[in-house]
Amino acid sequence: MAEQPAADRSSSLNPAILLVDMDSFFASVEVRDNPSLAGRPVLVGGSGKRGVVAACTYEARRFGVHSAMPMATARRLCPDAVILGGDMSRYAAVSRQLHRILRDVTPLVEPLGLDEAFLDVTGSTALFGSPRAIALAIRERIDVELSLRCAVGVGPSKLIAKLASREAKPTIADGVVREGSGVVVIMPDEVRGFLDRLDVGALFGVGPATASALARLGIERVADLAQMDPEILVRHLGQSQAYALVALARGQDDRPVVADQVSKSIGHEETFAEDVSDREILGQRLRRQAVAVSGALRAATRRGRTVTVKVKDSSFRTRTRSHTLSSGIDDHVAIFTVAGALLAAVDVDEGVRLLGLSVSNLEDGSNPVQLRLSVDGEENDDPSSSAEQLQQDRAGLEDAVDEIRARFGRHALGSASSLGADGLVVPAQRDVPFGPAEPSQEIQEP
Ligand SMILES: [Mg+2]
Repeated sequence: MAEQPAADRSSSLNPAILLVDMDSFFASVEVRDNPSLAGRPVLVGGSGKRGVVAACTYEARRFGVHSAMPMATARRLCPDAVILGGDMSRYAAVSRQLHRILRDVTPLVEPLGLDEAFLDVTGSTALFGSPRAIALAIRERIDVELSLRCAVGVGPSKLIAKLASREAKPTIADGVVREGSGVVVIMPDEVRGFLDRLDVGALFGVGPATASALARLGIERVADLAQMDPEILVRHLGQSQAYALVALARGQDDRPVVADQVSKSIGHEETFAEDVSDREILGQRLRRQAVAVSGALRAATRRGRTVTVKVKDSSFRTRTRSHTLSSGIDDHVAIFTVAGALLAAVDVDEGVRLLGLSVSNLEDGSNPVQLRLSVDGEENDDPSSSAEQLQQDRAGLEDAVDEIRARFGRHALGSASSLGADGLVVPAQRDVPFGPAEPSQEIQEP
């Protein structure tokens, strides 16, 4: 291995966490595979009335387009854009190649959706050099072998690695795309200064609702939040969120990189004897499914970030809608809040034959405070923020309900339909949503 320059302080990072995040992943794969798209604004996403931009090239971002934006808005901003429906199976294949490259460096790879992953490289430096050298080598391999670009954040924690990766991305100023540095390393003695430059919205767990709650208290910068006594925030944010956010603002984050997260979902489906088009009935059934899924998640000590609603209509057409939250949930009200919003966006007039609800992107649910990175934290919409709030607020009540159920049986409170063997489902590739934190991607199958 080549010797690292003396200026490379990253050798002393311990732990050394990397966040590798592909640039405009879906759109970049499209441009790579179709060179005639190079240099053009390309949008990947739903082209229908309620379509959402899942990914876009930097050429499109110059016009103010961003992911999670309604496609209609994107079209208006950028009328010359090339709009593509996307091909999840192709993106998933590239994602597998990406993860193979990452696992050459360390087995400690924690995927965050298709195009992003945390790596703990603390034990890899003897073989592969400093964390900075590893980050540069990963970028090089992704460039050479996949012809794609990525940004790598390096730091002493997941929080810092994630935020550093954003700093490494290309930026747009006055409509001009500026190359990013590609790799940003933040050392422990730089963490405070780094965090102090950021708005609170940069922290995961801070969606628009939390951000405005904090703004009402005069807290807009991470630096302001770091100085707060969390006890003062408890009344406004709830106990766990208040303490968790202040800890993050202070740069305290010791969550480990967890490898081999199996991308399974926990779900429940119901086929109706007669097709149902009454939204009230569908809502009741969905609520019941949320209770069942919540119970199964708790039984498995899991929480999930992605909520998916599946609707099959009388002509056997299946529509799937997903939303990915910035933090994992297992609370049935939180799950129903998201699922209900997803269902509301599906046309049910033709009659529904089958209704399904599943939660995926599963993570350990044993930690009382679960905060996850928000890939596009500032783009979280209201249903997810309120669901996260609910998750925080209702934790105590839910624990109590679980206890009562355990003592008196499943049917003691409300009706939780029992989970059959098919209650645990592995999602088909098409069920994978369009990347994390990108809401409401509709995927149709014939
Ligand atoms: Mg990305």
